[in-house]
Amino acid sequence: MARIIDGNKIASEIRAEVAAEVQQMTAAGMRPGLAVVLVGHNPASAVYVRGKVKACEEVGIYSEKHTPAEGVSTEELRVLIANLNRREEIDGILVQLPLPSQVDSKKVLMTVNPDKDVDGFHPMNIGFLATGRPGLVPCTPAGILEILERSRVPIAGQDAVVVGRSDIVGKPTAMLLTNHNATLTICHSKTRDLPAVCRRADILVAAIGRAGMITRDFVKAGAAVIDVGMNTVTEQAEFDRLFRGDAKRKETFQAKGSTLVGDVHPQVAEVAGWLTPVPGGVGPMTIAMLMANTVKAAKMRRGVQMLSRV
Ligand code: NAP
Repeated sequence: MARIIDGNKIASEIRAEVAAEVQQMTAAGMRPGLAVVLVGHNPASAVYVRGKVKACEEVGIYSEKHTPAEGVSTEELRVLIANLNRREEIDGILVQLPLPSQVDSKKVLMTVNPDKDVDGFHPMNIGFLATGRPGLVPCTPAGILEILERSRVPIAGQDAVVVGRSDIVGKPTAMLLTNHNATLTICHSKTRDLPAVCRRADILVAAIGRAGMITRDFVKAGAAVIDVGMNTVTEQAEFDRLFRGDAKRKETFQAKGSTLVGDVHPQVAEVAGWLTPVPGGVGPMTIAMLMANTVKAAKMRRGVQMLSRV
């Protein structure tokens, strides 16, 4: 059976490390600060933002929330961000996605100063990652790397397969693993014979958005399987396909009418060497890495300023 990687435990270790750094920086008069922009009333976005603000409080990062109305224009958001770019005490700017349809999201994200882009979505930071330069790395991929390294999963020289090529997960994860000397294959919906390609992987990352799609016949014995997917299952037949015989899941499914499922079928635990569970695997890492990125942004930006004053 696979070693089940405890993402909550790794995330709390990282938060503790971040909190210690924040304490030192605050004592030196450089308390890191994060500004979060939440547009409108998307309930899921509101929950995510609450989690991020709470995490800031826990590690001692200053935070502030900006809540423009649903009807805000691209230009108004750009002005808000430009003001945050100018403020010395703000080290990180996070624009919660998705933005309403009248807003040009790409234009808004391009306005964020790359030095304060704690989501790591700005093309300049993606370019730094692609060329192996220091910069701000998107949080979920950065969390995946922490999970692998802290679980002592070998990366250099290993065959890694990433299923999914989104700009926020699949592509940056593939770049990070390449930078750490894995041999990469990136797959998507047009990949031929996906199970055979996945079976070559020593490290298999599933970032697809399809409940339990990666079944045991996709996985080489002993592989490290990282499940990024977050899917809500509500259908009984789908639940039975994934969790037949799992009394604990059945209890929560019946009580709530739904359950959170990754892209990896639970039976993969019988063949994999390591497996991240859902929930409790990659999920908790994303906010922990946002905190780490805010501190990193503060250090990089203020470090550069200190140098330029000399
Ligand atoms: P996305 O933008 O929808 O991308 C999905 C990718 O999967 C695409 O590249 C798509 O291929 C590929 N794909 C879809 N169906 C496929 C199939 N049948 N075979 C092979 N590839 C297939 O999704 P995302 O934003 O990367 O997110 C992926 C999952 O991770 C979602 O469940 C999301 O909720 C979750 N997520 C979790 C966290 C976290 O903190 N844990 C953070 C972000 C996302 P094409 O490019 O060809 O369409």
